[in-house]
Amino acid sequence: MKYNIPRGTFDILPEDSYKWQFLQDSFRKMATCFGYEEITTPIFEVAELFERSSGESSDVVQKEMYRFQDKKGREFALRPEGTAPVVRSYVENHLDKLSSRTKLFYLGPMFRYDRPQAGRYRQFYQYGIEFIGSNNPYYDAEVIAVAFLWLNKLGLNNLRLEINSVGCPDCSAVYDKALQEYYRPFLPKLCPDCVKRLETNPRRLLDCKVPSCIEFRKNAPSQMDYLDEPCKKHFSAVCDYLQAMNIPYTINPRIVRGLDYYTNTAFEIIYEGLGAQNSLVGGGRYNGLVEQIGGKSIPAIGFAGGFERLLLALEEEKIELIPPSKPDAYLVCVGDNTRLQILPYLNALRTKGLIVDYDPDKSSLKAQLKSAASSGAKYAIIIGENELATKTVNLKNLQTGEQIAIPMDEEYTINKMKN
Ligand SMILES: [Zn+2]
Ligand SMILES: [Zn+2]
Repeated sequence: MKYNIPRGTFDILPEDSYKWQFLQDSFRKMATCFGYEEITTPIFEVAELFERSSGESSDVVQKEMYRFQDKKGREFALRPEGTAPVVRSYVENHLDKLSSRTKLFYLGPMFRYDRPQAGRYRQFYQYGIEFIGSNNPYYDAEVIAVAFLWLNKLGLNNLRLEINSVGCPDCSAVYDKALQEYYRPFLPKLCPDCVKRLETNPRRLLDCKVPSCIEFRKNAPSQMDYLDEPCKKHFSAVCDYLQAMNIPYTINPRIVRGLDYYTNTAFEIIYEGLGAQNSLVGGGRYNGLVEQIGGKSIPAIGFAGGFERLLLALEEEKIELIPPSKPDAYLVCVGDNTRLQILPYLNALRTKGLIVDYDPDKSSLKAQLKSAASSGAKYAIIIGENELATKTVNLKNLQTGEQIAIPMDEEYTINKMKN
């Protein structure tokens, strides 16, 4: 019997693991510098959480969610996104009691039953932040800055930040009416999905990928023209903050988030050169969500991005991430007696944090020195019967060829290697 990996998933093999570790560490550092703290939630939640937050009619819930029953018949789902679980935890653990402003970030796999294609998988790894507790437009800009400046720091320069305001429930209702009026005469020419959406969620028509529908989009009314005063003010303040932060942006009135709880600011960070799947980060304000899933009415904003697509972008830009460390030393051990006796010394070196390579299968000095050279280690530590008897080792610098005898003592060895 031979087993294959499930479709739409992939193994991160040892040769690539460092890239993932690098991105995780680097994102952690950036988010921490902005005052965000890590939160880790389970990979599955009760299915209703996502139905509530994403809307039962959404594609995510209808077609893409991995749903299952446990042995007691309870309905669970593998998380398709990170925001609802974080907000669930925020409400459940009363995080608002600790501070009126809660700054959280997360890293981890999400799951969607989607058609696999370049940069899109059924299990995908997301990074994101959530700011909960204020409607101050400064935080809209701060959240955007964390994503934009981090991607920039990784070396991606051809980024385009696109922002929009989707308004508040008041003004988006007016806008929805205007959209319905605009699209109604074209009803016979719209795709079946859009015909359905026109009554339930007209803003999604702007998002349709069917070519004939895209045609009608050009002259559709813009959300920008329908914002009420508070929403207009909020949006222009966000723009001012971005300008002050030297973060360039373009206004794209067609950014409509796929989920229903978004209000005011919506944004995407686009990397040109990835074809149709060019959005690296998507986010926005979701002032309605905390209350919708059982908390108080508390404003919030966040973003999420995927590592898979980010890695494609870094590859496209030929950006090398810092590769894993080579071994510090290679232990060369000659003589049957020594094999057993060097073990306490070897373990001591490794537990003190030294990366030590050792191969008990190779017996000749020559073969071991050859392996030492090809391992990339800076030093070879050579021990034979004579060294064992005098409790010494030969420390050989593999770059200069210089060799010295030192006591067989882990502290001494490490100090010598550092100097
Ligand atoms: Zn409004
Ligand atoms: Zn359509």
